[in-house]
Amino acid sequence: MEMDRYSMTNESVKDTIENNYPLLQHAEGTIEAGFEQQERLDEVTELLVTGEFHTLVEDYGMIKCIDGRPGGYGLYPNTAGGTETLLVADDLTTKRFADETGTTVNAYRNLIHYLEEAGEMVGGHGDNHAEGAASGCGANDKLEKIYAFMVRSADILRELAEKLGVVVDDITHDTIIANAAARTQFSTGAELLSVLLENENAHHEELLDVHNEVVAVINTQPDTSLDRQALADHFGDDYQAFNVDVWAFSGAAASIAELPEEISAKVVAMVYYNLATAHVLCGKGMRVVVL
Ligand SMILES: [Zn+2]
Repeated sequence: MEMDRYSMTNESVKDTIENNYPLLQHAEGTIEAGFEQQERLDEVTELLVTGEFHTLVEDYGMIKCIDGRPGGYGLYPNTAGGTETLLVADDLTTKRFADETGTTVNAYRNLIHYLEEAGEMVGGHGDNHAEGAASGCGANDKLEKIYAFMVRSADILRELAEKLGVVVDDITHDTIIANAAARTQFSTGAELLSVLLENENAHHEELLDVHNEVVAVINTQPDTSLDRQALADHFGDDYQAFNVDVWAFSGAAASIAELPEEISAKVVAMVYYNLATAHVLCGKGMRVVVL
C-alpha cells in the first residue's frame, strides 16, 4: 500500500511541476532550489501538494508576508509585504490614501492610520541583517523594480491572473498598469517599515538569515495558511516555501474600499503585485504549487 501511495503522489508532483511551470517562466530573480536542496525537493513538493501543512488562520488580518524564512509567529493570511499589499492595491486603483506629496510613505501612514481606526490589524517584517535604506522585506525594498516589472510585463501578468481564475476587464487592467507606470517616487523600504512600527499594535516580525525557498505556493483554500513551523519541524530551515493566500484578497480589498464596486479592481491589483513580486524575487526554477 505504501508503494502505491508513493508512486501515485510522485505522479502528482510531476503533474504539478509540469502544469505550473509556466507560472514563473518569465521570472527574473535568483531564489530557487540550489544544488544542495535537490535531495528532498520532491518530498517537500509532494507534501505541499497534499495541503497538509496548510491549517486554519487565527484571524483574517492580511498582515504577514509571503516570505518563507523562519522567525515569524502566528498563522495569518500571507501576501507580499503584509499590509503593504493594501498600499499597492490602493495606489494602483483609487488612491484613497495618497496625499498631496504623492509619496508612498505618506500614503502608507494614512492607510495604517485608517486600518487602525477601523479596528483592522496591520503588519509586516524586517530581517536580522538589513541595513541602511533596506527593510529586509523584498516585496518592500524592491517595490520600484516590482512596479517596473508590472509595466514591462503587463500582458504576462494579465494572462497569469486569468489562468488562475481572476477576471480582469480592460479598464481595470489599463488603470492598474497606467498607475504603475505613472509612479516615479518610491520611499525606501526602511521608511515604509518605520511607518508601520509607529503603530504600537503592528504585527512585526524579524525574520532570520538567508532565503531558502524551494517552492512557491498559491493558496486558494479559504481560512488557511502555510504552517511554516510545521514545515521547518519536518525539513529544517534548508527547505522553505513562499506562500500567498489569495483567498484573503477580496476581504482585505473590501476593508479599504469606499464602494463595493471598487473591490474587484483592488483584488486584481493585489494579484498583479504578488505575481510581479514573485517574478522579481524568484528564479525560473522555482517550483509552483497551486492549492
Ligand atoms: Zn517580505
